[in-house]
Amino acid sequence: MLNIVIFGAPGSGKGTQSERIVEKYGVTHISTGDVLRAEIKKGTELGQTAQGYIEQGQLIPDSLMINILGCVLDSIKESKGVIFDGFPRTIPQAEALDKLLAERGQKVTVMIDLEVPEQILIARLINRGKQTGRADDNEETIKKRLQVYHTQTYPLIEWYKEKNKHYAVKGYGELDDILTDICAIIDTAQK
Ligand code: ATP
Ligand code: MG
Repeated sequence: MLNIVIFGAPGSGKGTQSERIVEKYGVTHISTGDVLRAEIKKGTELGQTAQGYIEQGQLIPDSLMINILGCVLDSIKESKGVIFDGFPRTIPQAEALDKLLAERGQKVTVMIDLEVPEQILIARLINRGKQTGRADDNEETIKKRLQVYHTQTYPLIEWYKEKNKHYAVKGYGELDDILTDICAIIDTAQK
């Protein structure tokens, strides 16, 4: 089983590269952001709760997010593994992921950290906001999300480094070059 954590700040390209990794390795894509946006669209109670946090640029509380992830994992029938996009975003979430995988006799194979300078992140997100109308891709919320990333999510880099699972990739430039770097890491880790 190949369990990849794709990591990076908002706008780092996790979703874009995940799609390519899915094509190449046949793993299942779990994007917690996409899961939450689907719930908002359906108008469920969970969606309503999530919407409040997302529009404020805040994270959904860990206990709720961990429950959601457990449900999504349970819904996967047969799989070669998973690419986790947007989860974990906090240390408690990373601990929970290890536990959820251990219960299934699995573990995280690698954590791939897409490194992108902040100015490029902001430009990408503003552009995405214009093109897709995504509610949290406006200047004010982007600033909050980047702050949340630095305080709550960034410490995961050290956490995965301690476990020898952290691999940094330059997350800007040609999309194909980024993918090549990611694949080299996955191929080495799989051996
Ligand atoms: P990218 O552009 O790289 O895909 P992103 O940060 O712009 O990343 P999503 O991953 O789609 O966007 O997340 C959007 C929002 O959903 C977050 O700002 C947060 O409010 C919520 N969210 C998603 N995943 C989590 C999580 N694991 N824990 C808490 N909140 C989450
Ligand atoms: Mg995304």
